[in-house]
Amino acid sequence: MKLVIFDMDGTLTDSFAFAENIYVRAFAQAFDLPDVRIDWASFPHTSSSYCLDAVLREHFGRAATPADSRAVTQAALRLMAEIQQNTGRRTRAIPGAAAALRELRRCGYAVAVASGDWEATARHKFATAEIPLSDLPFAFCEAGHARTEIMRTALARAAAHHGRAGFDRITYIGDAAWDVRACRELGWPLVGIGEHDHAAHLRSLGVTHVLPHYLDFDGFLQAVEQAGSPQ
Ligand SMILES: [Mg+2]
Repeated sequence: MKLVIFDMDGTLTDSFAFAENIYVRAFAQAFDLPDVRIDWASFPHTSSSYCLDAVLREHFGRAATPADSRAVTQAALRLMAEIQQNTGRRTRAIPGAAAALRELRRCGYAVAVASGDWEATARHKFATAEIPLSDLPFAFCEAGHARTEIMRTALARAAAHHGRAGFDRITYIGDAAWDVRACRELGWPLVGIGEHDHAAHLRSLGVTHVLPHYLDFDGFLQAVEQAGSPQ
């Protein structure tokens, strides 16, 4: 059995939360920090839990607690609901994403999700984008700060879910430079999701197969089978 693990933001769902600066605004509301700057690219670990910890250490000289995570995710959920109600803007699925998850499983693949977001905000985004998580094994940033740790946790949960010691092939589907770094470190094949300049950037980082969406399922399946690990 082969396993396909998907990132969420920018891979299965669009980048609505980033475009709307949801996390910056949620930190501002939860901790009364109006000027917080989040430079994701500068972080050694790209997960919401690491980001929160880094911000609280910088501004308050202390580590983040589970109560801090709850405060931020509740603020983020409120903000996303407010924006949707006031403007209609919301998280949307990358075209064909829900069907691709369904078709992969119909073709006998194991499927899992590994995302650097919190579980609560991730569940909201999947529900809003109408992508059923149903019984998919998943790991979010509660599993650890490092992407590789979250990805390994998703793999372990997928193995337990299917009652297997491992899989014949593991392919990751992601959209960002940190996905490329994590797959290089783990030696996992990567299919990139991106369009135009973004796709060119992923190719320049060594991603062998880049697709704009999942509307051509046969093409996607071919990429899942043929992709290599970024060199
Ligand atoms: Mg992403």
